Amino acid sequence: MDDPTLLNFDYWSRRILLFYLFIVMLSVTGEMLAWVITRTISEGLQMDFFVSIVVRPTIMQLAVIGLTYAIVRVAPRSLAIYVLVLGGIGITMALTVTMPDVHGLELALLLPMAVSLIFFRLGVLMFSFVASLFSYMLAYVFLPEYQDRLLHYELMAYTALLCAGYIIYYAVLQREVEVMGSLRKAIDTEQELRIEKMIVDKMARTDSLTGLYNHRTFQEELDRLVDRGCRGESEVQLAIVDIDHFKRINDNYGHSAGDAILRRVAKTIAESVTAAEFVARYGGEEFAILFSGKTMDEAFRLMEHVRVAISRLRHPEMEEGTATISAGLRALQPGQGKAAFFAEADALLYEAKRSGRNRIVASPSPSPVVR
Ligand code: GH3
Ligand code: MG
Ligand code: MG
Repeated sequence: MDDPTLLNFDYWSRRILLFYLFIVMLSVTGEMLAWVITRTISEGLQMDFFVSIVVRPTIMQLAVIGLTYAIVRVAPRSLAIYVLVLGGIGITMALTVTMPDVHGLELALLLPMAVSLIFFRLGVLMFSFVASLFSYMLAYVFLPEYQDRLLHYELMAYTALLCAGYIIYYAVLQREVEVMGSLRKAIDTEQELRIEKMIVDKMARTDSLTGLYNHRTFQEELDRLVDRGCRGESEVQLAIVDIDHFKRINDNYGHSAGDAILRRVAKTIAESVTAAEFVARYGGEEFAILFSGKTMDEAFRLMEHVRVAISRLRHPEMEEGTATISAGLRALQPGQGKAAFFAEADALLYEAKRSGRNRIVASPSPSPVVR
């Protein structure tokens, strides 16, 4: 499964970069104001001052944003999050070091830490906290100008504020992770229940020995198809299939041999018809096949195919090795009810038994060409 914390990553990384751009715009505005306020008319435009407090930091910040954007586009997503954090630290440090006279800019380091909240990452929070502390300590150690103006108590206060920020973010993030975990658990439980329900539904609809549809499902399908047939939407035929002399098989070779043969016969029936047919175990050693959208000739041809396939099956459980089936095949007549339809198919089955077994008796008779 995809990592949900990286959902819509491109959208959110773009938003973070736009936010960084917004910070740059804010700082340019502040710098311009500072430039306007601090220069005096008599001293002229003071372009040096303008370059150092407006142009220099802005170029540095835009370069950081550009670089971050380029890396984020190509880097793997879980790595790109860290690059977004570093970009935020870069922008803040560009401001801090180019304008050492302005106190408190270091606190903007709290912003890149918030990237961890967007992506639910405790590791990213820890990384951004350490990287923030490290980068501003680095500036303190290597930039004498910065060191001069940063009072000791300021250094301690900023460090303490960064720590406080870290603790607050940590609590928020822990809560996010906790809520997400319980949501995921709820989704998993729901999915398990849905799967269980599907299994129970399937079990309720099928016969456990053969895997075919069971008697109840057959009755539902028969209702549905008789309705369709009565509305003239499609031709419907019903075949009732019965294994010949099955009692003898049971008596001679035992019930477990009988079960194995039943399973094999059921599988062969299902494999000998098309996916459009509905095959059910009616009960005992009897099966029912419903045809819809087929002509009587097509249904009969399929039934003959079933009969021949079963007669050719080898059953190692029995000495004689083979078994046969008989079937009655009936086409639904206009206006005929379900009970009459079934009774007529059943009567045809008994005709098949009486006339010698291992045969299909159909009504109306299929065209001779098919036979
Ligand atoms: P016919 O050719 O007239 O159909 O003869 P038959 O022996 O098949 O008919 P009968 O209805 O007398 O016998 C059906 C037998 O099927 C009786 C019963 O013991 C057996 N039977 C029914 N269900 C199962 C089953 O689930 N497993 C096994 N092994 N036998 C079953
Ligand atoms: Mg029977
Ligand atoms: Mg039988």
